[in-house]
Amino acid sequence: VPARLKPASTVTSICGYCATGCQLKLHLDENGRAINLTPQAGYPVNLGMACPKGWQALDPLDSPDRATTPLLRNDAGEMVPVGWAEAMEAFVSHFKDIKEKHGRESVAFLSTGQIPFEEMAFLGSLFKFGMGFIHGDANTRQCMATAVAAYKQSFGFDAPPYSYADFEESDVIVLVGSNLCIAHPILWQRVMRNKRNPQIIVIDPRATETAQAATQHVVLKPKGDLALFYSLAHCIVRDGRTDPESIERTEGYDDFVAFLRDYSPESVSEKTGQSVEAIEALARTVSEPGKRVSWWWTMGINQSYEGVRAAQAMINLALITGNIGKPGTGANSITGQCNAMGSRLFSNTTSMVGGHDFAYESHREKVAAGLGIPLENIPADSSLAYDQILAAAEEGKIKGLWIVATNPFHSWIDSGRLAALREKLEFIVVQDMFHTTESARAADLVLPSAGWGEKDGCFINSERRIGTLKKVREAPGIALSDFRIFRLIAHAWGCDELFSRWTDPESAFRLLRDLTKDRPCDITGVEGYEMIDRLGGVQWPYPASNPPANRERRLFEDGNYYTPSGKAKLLFSPPADLPEPTDSAYPFTLLTGRGTSSQWHTQSRTGKSDILQKLYPQEAYIEIHPTDASRLRLKEHDTVTIRSRRGEMHASVYIAPTVQPGQLFLPMHYPEVNRLTHPSFDPHSRQPNYKFCAVALAKA
Ligand code: SF4
Repeated sequence: VPARLKPASTVTSICGYCATGCQLKLHLDENGRAINLTPQAGYPVNLGMACPKGWQALDPLDSPDRATTPLLRNDAGEMVPVGWAEAMEAFVSHFKDIKEKHGRESVAFLSTGQIPFEEMAFLGSLFKFGMGFIHGDANTRQCMATAVAAYKQSFGFDAPPYSYADFEESDVIVLVGSNLCIAHPILWQRVMRNKRNPQIIVIDPRATETAQAATQHVVLKPKGDLALFYSLAHCIVRDGRTDPESIERTEGYDDFVAFLRDYSPESVSEKTGQSVEAIEALARTVSEPGKRVSWWWTMGINQSYEGVRAAQAMINLALITGNIGKPGTGANSITGQCNAMGSRLFSNTTSMVGGHDFAYESHREKVAAGLGIPLENIPADSSLAYDQILAAAEEGKIKGLWIVATNPFHSWIDSGRLAALREKLEFIVVQDMFHTTESARAADLVLPSAGWGEKDGCFINSERRIGTLKKVREAPGIALSDFRIFRLIAHAWGCDELFSRWTDPESAFRLLRDLTKDRPCDITGVEGYEMIDRLGGVQWPYPASNPPANRERRLFEDGNYYTPSGKAKLLFSPPADLPEPTDSAYPFTLLTGRGTSSQWHTQSRTGKSDILQKLYPQEAYIEIHPTDASRLRLKEHDTVTIRSRRGEMHASVYIAPTVQPGQLFLPMHYPEVNRLTHPSFDPHSRQPNYKFCAVALAKA
């Protein structure tokens, strides 16, 4: 038996990839070093299952690409290894110099949903309250800003209402813009455990793996979603299939009904690609009396120029049919990154920490008192959003950028603009596990950080469940946890007395926990990490005054929402025009998205696993419909050039009827993909529209 199959002990930890939040059992040798892992049986999220990324979670830690020492660009433009003292000196002198010359709005950070929320909150607090800057955002803007804005506006707080158990208790599961089979494979397994013989309806332009496994695939025209949802609501109201009791708990119903008059099935049939009969049949299915209907969405909705209204259109459907606050129901956003939910509430990225919004003076006062920070250090101004930070950098207003655990030079929409930005910025710091990401290669200073498995902290998953991660490896070289790096920076900047209580992740957890008192995300009843582990994770809210007894919970069971009136708001707007329609020069619609369960985002970690690499093509490929392939005389594996108004790339042809004629699909994991995407944004959430742009395609 090989040594790695004979652990001396085990410890549990939440997986560091997606927001499903599976718990893994890490097998340790006699020195407490992880040598293997298995999924944890009995954890209420994954029930003993893991996807390929989880099984291989230890692989990236051993990569030769790990950043093991700080790297500083010298006068000849080369990156040279330096010690932490020199790195801190460079960090502080450059950013202080920029601040002195150009003011507190001249440096920004871009962070992540991949590090524990204790670290996220430390970063935001250090940058704003200690270093005195204003602007910072996270790559969660790319992922679920739409859901945040939709819930805040409709429910009065960013509150996804569900538990994963709802997958198993629904009669009708409607998945919209969600390829659950590969994006959240363990949640798909939860669907498969449903014993109620559910109808599984996938609304998506592509015949994704999930659509192929569903009981019904609604083959939508790209961006026909909003018109379809309004038409479903039109039919439900017209046919008297609403739930009056649930409507009592809403505001704006009469205006909504008047608005819906323009959305008859006949009027939206062309835009959605659905027949009148199909729309009417779907409306009946999602409003069947006595049936539990749940709506679930991910990036097909969130990453859109009108994502907030599309998400709210599903929320409206759930509200008017009484499908909220009951088992097997809900209008449910499934989040992307492992700590996206922690980022939403605790990260102190744009303007929120511990559920407090800096826009309100009373909230700023509570944050100041809770964290022991002078009130005047807490900016009332909200931060610029991600795209606005980059636009300000293009205009020369932002001169310094601090990028933490993310890779925007690959992942940001219209990524060619970032390459141009490189020349405009005076100083770029990248803090990351690897020195080889596209962003790290553009940096002036690389700060080497510990990865998942090399530090402690907490993540919050999609169903609002807090879970702990554990240190089971030493970081290589002189790399440090992000938490320790923030402490070093606080000291070097001269503001460490403000952060004397942030001694380690669990102390930070307690500070943040106490800050949540009386907010919807109140977790004051959680003693600490040991209790979280003992309870099998804790879903918020978990107030000390009234700790819930049950392990899995949904929100709004009492019909009370977080708005001032206690009622949910029905919000709607007419569908907007496509930001970039196809034309004779760019005749194809390009869709981008996740291509596999075995790769993660920009592959900065999963690309370091030999096993995961074997499961997925390493050269970019593009899906094209057989009719288009035949018209363009393309064969399987031909190399094509895909060109948009912003850039071009090559890919290998994959002929498949999974896309409709006139449409193409490119997986997002390849670095060139975002050279093509169109920089349009949802006006409410500022989330980028990755799902639709016009391209041309020709044999290379
Ligand atoms: Fe990790 Fe997500 Fe896979 Fe679970 S489904 S093992 S959380 S990547």
